[in-house]
Amino acid sequence: MISTSLLPLESPTPAYICPIDQVCSYLEAAARELKLDQGIVEVLSNPRKVVTVSIPVKRDNGEVQVLAGHRVQHCDILGPYKGGIRYHPAVTLREVSALAMLMTWKCSLLGIPYGGAKGGIAIDPKRYSVGELERITRRYISELIKDIGPAVDIPAPDMGTSAREMAWMMDTYSMNVGHAVPGVVTGKPLSIGGSRGREMATGRGVMIIVREALADLGKSLEGVRVAIQGFGNVGSAAALLLHQEGAKVIAVSTGSGGVFAEVGLDIPALKAYAAANHKSIVGFPQGVSISNDQLLTLPCDVLIPAALENQITEENVNQVQAQIIAEAANGPITLEANLALEARGVTVLPDILANAGGVVVSYLEWVQGLSYVFWDEERVNREMEQLMVQAYRQVIQQSQMRQIPLRLAAYTLGVGRVAQALSDRGLYP
Ligand code: NAD
Repeated sequence: MISTSLLPLESPTPAYICPIDQVCSYLEAAARELKLDQGIVEVLSNPRKVVTVSIPVKRDNGEVQVLAGHRVQHCDILGPYKGGIRYHPAVTLREVSALAMLMTWKCSLLGIPYGGAKGGIAIDPKRYSVGELERITRRYISELIKDIGPAVDIPAPDMGTSAREMAWMMDTYSMNVGHAVPGVVTGKPLSIGGSRGREMATGRGVMIIVREALADLGKSLEGVRVAIQGFGNVGSAAALLLHQEGAKVIAVSTGSGGVFAEVGLDIPALKAYAAANHKSIVGFPQGVSISNDQLLTLPCDVLIPAALENQITEENVNQVQAQIIAEAANGPITLEANLALEARGVTVLPDILANAGGVVVSYLEWVQGLSYVFWDEERVNREMEQLMVQAYRQVIQQSQMRQIPLRLAAYTLGVGRVAQALSDRGLYP
């Protein structure tokens, strides 16, 4: 198997599923299908730059804690690096590297002139005050000041970060360079150049791809039973939009448990409940409690994992009953589970397609910022939908033409375009 020789090994436990090995396996499969030159594959399987910085932070009680912050820049052959910043206890350098590589293929698949990057700090943001989070964010960005910029690397929100953190990042970068630079991050508040439609974008993209996949099966969203793991930025937006389109969202879960209602959950009421209960949906009166494990194996038509990696594994894949799985999260299905699902004929809508709505609208935000012309939400949604549907059609066509599963089809398109660009540009020097 190809490997990323640049990265240090982390001490694997028996249950450890290394995300970078998984992403490299998909790259390897795409390279085989495309008969790519081995040298090109070697280049593409390694990140171009791996940065780890030390973040000393003074806690509110006066103690000093030192955190590690990562930024991995995988490939900038097609344009500036682009990718989210994650605040989650499970963040590791290898995970960030896998997510950076996924971003490269995602941008390429969607026809967006960006390369892939990802960043993260291994913290549970719930255990830090707003002031502490601001100090952590500002110090992290100060340490990365020479590695980011609107033409270099453009961070965005991911798990545990939102428009609030993007505003702190934009301000920190701007104060350091001496003038306002809105284009250094996307997913910003509207007041400083954010795009309308960005907050719902990833969830909207998931809804669009599920709708297209159902249409290809001769079905519509009306009455379709959906289960969603994760009720954060992506999961809650997907739930609301699917609900508005007539789907029955029968179950939703978060890190602390989930709720189920056979008749379909009232998603606006659930969102209001979560907003009033520190993002928890446990105890929502219009449903019964279920665990995360139960959610994944419920009888439903569409399953949307929208939380973490490695949620559908060899252990539970045989109990998964959905006929369509849309990967709203990055890497929620392990390699082995993916093979089992493909063998069973389950439609797996791969992450680099299904959750690309966020990066598409980030791109549209960047374009608006660079041109100083801002669009209304209807235009943003329309342009995003056009790119998402176009990418979906290309993946279906590729899958049919080569007789390969959707994930491999998406990878062959994403990887193939980057490989072509690398071969056209040539190796420097
Ligand atoms: P978020 O932090 O807003 O929400 C994460 C959700 O997952 C929360 O509801 C949390 O309670 C839940 N969760 C955490 N641990 C869980 C567990 N063990 N079991 C079940 N649920 C758990 O994050 P987000 O921005 O919605 O991102 C979710 C996923 O989508 C990530 O994989 C991220 O990389 C991917 N993604 C996000 C974006 C974006 O625009 N935010 C874009 C593309 C992909």
